[in-house]
Amino acid sequence: MVRLTFYGGVNEIGGNKILLEDGDRRLLLDFGFPYKRHKLFYEEYLKPRPGAGLLDPLAMGLLPLVEGIYRDDVEAADLWPRFREAPQYRKLDGVDGVLLSHAHLDHSGHISFLRHDIPVYSTGVTAFVAKAIQDSGRADFDQQVCYFSPRERRCPTGLRQEALISRRAPKQQRRFCIGDIGPGTLGAAAAEFWEQGFWSKGPKQEEEIKSQPVAGVDGCAFGLRCLPVDHSIPGACAWCIETGAGWLVYSGDLRLHGKRAGLSRKFMEEAAGLRPRALILEGTNVQREANVSELEVYRHGLKAVRSADGLVVADFAARDVDRLLTFLQIARETGRRLAVLPRDAYLLKTMRLLEPDTPDIAREEGLAIYQDTTASKNPSLWLRNLCQEYDSKLVLARDVDSAQGEFILAFSFFDLNELPSIRPRPGSLYVYSSSEPHDEEQEIDFRRLHNWLEHFGFRSFGLPVESADGWQVPEGEAGLHASGHACGPDLLELAREIGPELLIPVHSEHPEYYLDSLGGRRTEVLLPTAGGTIEV
Ligand SMILES: [Zn+2]
Repeated sequence: MVRLTFYGGVNEIGGNKILLEDGDRRLLLDFGFPYKRHKLFYEEYLKPRPGAGLLDPLAMGLLPLVEGIYRDDVEAADLWPRFREAPQYRKLDGVDGVLLSHAHLDHSGHISFLRHDIPVYSTGVTAFVAKAIQDSGRADFDQQVCYFSPRERRCPTGLRQEALISRRAPKQQRRFCIGDIGPGTLGAAAAEFWEQGFWSKGPKQEEEIKSQPVAGVDGCAFGLRCLPVDHSIPGACAWCIETGAGWLVYSGDLRLHGKRAGLSRKFMEEAAGLRPRALILEGTNVQREANVSELEVYRHGLKAVRSADGLVVADFAARDVDRLLTFLQIARETGRRLAVLPRDAYLLKTMRLLEPDTPDIAREEGLAIYQDTTASKNPSLWLRNLCQEYDSKLVLARDVDSAQGEFILAFSFFDLNELPSIRPRPGSLYVYSSSEPHDEEQEIDFRRLHNWLEHFGFRSFGLPVESADGWQVPEGEAGLHASGHACGPDLLELAREIGPELLIPVHSEHPEYYLDSLGGRRTEVLLPTAGGTIEV
């Protein structure tokens, strides 16, 4: 009997955490950060306490009450006894691995809390992108996917309340097993990247635990197939797992209308060939009838940028490398340069280690790196290395200020505080190439964004405007965002082609869509419940 327990991703978009048990073999399918539930309790200035370790996320229902899978250095005193009577409490003797579908934090973030000896299975690009995201971001203690500083329980100097405090050294790195790369194919540059920035300052310590990614999935207790798919971040994959009940297929997030749609179609064929017992399928956009393609984004974006003489700002999702390349193409064709932030340049550089087709920043005339203002006396190693390596590609605020018509700035809302340094001239253009606001917090940010644009005299293109019917893109300005997720008809095509006996929708606010559309046919649809188990 194979059991699937759904600890996240039920009636919500993101936060996937699925436990698969087959006898005494166990896997987690993603272990994501549950943004929706997190926002019920927390905001920027009210966050889970790092010094309390696992207590806050367990007590607030952000992590499953499963003893035996988490790091012991984040266990507060008397942690588990207080949960042992809870109905969902379980004790497991570890798990055999996490199958990570892609590096978006709503699928990967809570890996941070798992025991460091639990291997993470992913594609090579996902492992490397996850590390680039952690290196170049400010990962909180609950989003440290690739490495972390172990904590110890003690009283801070001069205080009475004991807490879990980061030890200075050594850091610990997680073990990644790469599903789509054969043994021995990870080059020296890639190996060096994996170690870079990980070593703590000062002399190396004996017990410092580092571990290079292992090529292949042969070490897993289950037979696995890692099948790359197309999504709005590079490296996404679906997983096929051979169990006692037959093959189980987990789609992760995917689409059939992006630049790499061929990958998703190939996945569909291969998964169908396995005649799977069950398919766990995402359903983010089940209510959409059609998709905007990346090619349409390119055409609309080109038209918008051609209409501008002054500065252009392009706002698109972080890590959406396909969109970045779309705007790079638009920049080339309009005689501009796309100026990206260092973190985006770092991501491109990282991807190129595994995918040599990725543009080489050093040689790409249409690309520049915008060095933003930082007050840090000691910038991180990745940033210093990057700025040294691409010194000739760096542009500063004054360079953009003095040649505004020569640039497209790849900025998002959170980068707008560079504008006072750049002094955009009235009539500058803000091209919005991302999704509309999904919750109140984002709506507030959207109002702020409108204020910024008004303050600097921008005109916008594709930017949703608040109306009585909610937020809507002005007429004639649609088609500037291609979603990372397949629309309803495409998802049904996927389900029908793969043809599982059982379909379990996750990552959706409308999972009943599949019941209505597929119910009564060859495939049985079962809706998971939060924390509930489905026997396969
Ligand atoms: Zn995703």
